[in-house]
Amino acid sequence: MDAIVLGGGLMGAASAFFLARRGIRVTLIERNRVGSGATIASFGNIRRSGRYIPQLPLSHRSLALWGEAEAMLGRDVEFRATGHLRLVFSQEGLAAMRSFIEESRPWGLELEELTARDLRSRFPGLGPEAIAASFSPKDGSGNPRLIAPAFANAAQKLGADIVENVVIRAIRKTDYGFKVETSKGSHEASMLLNATGAWGARIATLFGETVPIVAKGPQMGVTEPLPHRILPVVGVWAHDHGGGYLRQVERGNIVFGGGANRIDVSLDTGYAKADPARLPGQLRSLLPILPALKNVAVIRTWSGCEGYVEDGLPVIGRSSTTPGLFHAFGFSGHGFQLGPGVGDVMAEIMATGGTDIPLQDFRIERFTKPNGLRISR
Ligand SMILES: Cc1cc2nc3c(=O)[nH]c(=O)nc-3n(C[C@H](O)[C@H](O)[C@H](O)COP(=O)(O)OP(=O)(O)OC[C@H]3O[C@@H](n4cnc5c(N)ncnc54)[C@H](O)[C@@H]3O)c2cc1C
Repeated sequence: MDAIVLGGGLMGAASAFFLARRGIRVTLIERNRVGSGATIASFGNIRRSGRYIPQLPLSHRSLALWGEAEAMLGRDVEFRATGHLRLVFSQEGLAAMRSFIEESRPWGLELEELTARDLRSRFPGLGPEAIAASFSPKDGSGNPRLIAPAFANAAQKLGADIVENVVIRAIRKTDYGFKVETSKGSHEASMLLNATGAWGARIATLFGETVPIVAKGPQMGVTEPLPHRILPVVGVWAHDHGGGYLRQVERGNIVFGGGANRIDVSLDTGYAKADPARLPGQLRSLLPILPALKNVAVIRTWSGCEGYVEDGLPVIGRSSTTPGLFHAFGFSGHGFQLGPGVGDVMAEIMATGGTDIPLQDFRIERFTKPNGLRISR
């Protein structure tokens, strides 16, 4: 069996690794550098709370793989299970948190509900006006710069061919399977995995499949180092105060996101540029979460090109039109946590024909009837 993985973000690199580990001859083709798309721009949040509930089995599988990543890949990708704290500032937030805690429990996620008093004694300095919080002790963060190259390098050690910095000239269906012609030569395989992130719908279109997706860039920033020590990743329920989130890295800098509208990105360039005009409002919305941010300097801002599917869910699974073609794209702002699990599950489906992980809600058919008409969910 052989496969081409198109796109070397976290999804493609993880898939290449797990395919190679299953003994499949795999070629990963990334037109830029591995990991240089949405993945490198990510905030690095590895959280399960607040997720679409039927996605939790995939999310649990992925979390377990994040925990094994260092041993599996031979490199510390800075996964730290520091916990994920989510603050509540309103009655709407309280209701959202409680219903999520109830609904997710049968799916195997145990969140602690903290009172305002618990919050202040366990996490001083965070959310002085918060009325409650949830805490997910096994979640945390990872380093977005390290993870995709770590998967690609480990895949290469298992025999995968990693092709970077190429112009893609053509992608064709052949009698054998698929042929991808690049500026550095052609590659053929019986299976093709479309892991091209925000560009995934462009590849799907080549095979007669339509997915409504837009490219957007969440705006991120990082402050100078602060002595104050916050261990967990922190977010909010119900999008209160603009839905900001932050974490403190080991050197003390606070990495933050949310609290500002996402920036429009052209798929032709893929260039997602942070907008300095949005920064003051973004910082203001983070102050209720961490008042210590009041007088700190922001040393860098950035964004990245992410594909947001109309219904907020990714496209994962086999093509509806073309045997041998598979999709894993459109992660709509929450793919970093899922990446290792998606790679593992895609390799399982491609190697064995199936998986126990429920993926029916992510099928590409949710947008396309056999006659090509779009349907709504
Ligand atoms: C600013 C930002 C913050 C985020 N924060 C978080 C977070 O905290 N937690 C979380 O879970 N998720 C987060 N996300 C989302 C997460 O980063 C993405 O969902 C995930 O990285 C997507 O991985 P991917 O491999 O699908 O896409 P990408 O990393 O974009 O990789 C796709 C790759 O395909 C390549 N490509 C495209 N077309 C072709 C082609 N025709 N041929 C060859 N290669 C091609 C691109 O060059 C790119 O490298 C964030 C995203 C952004 C942008």
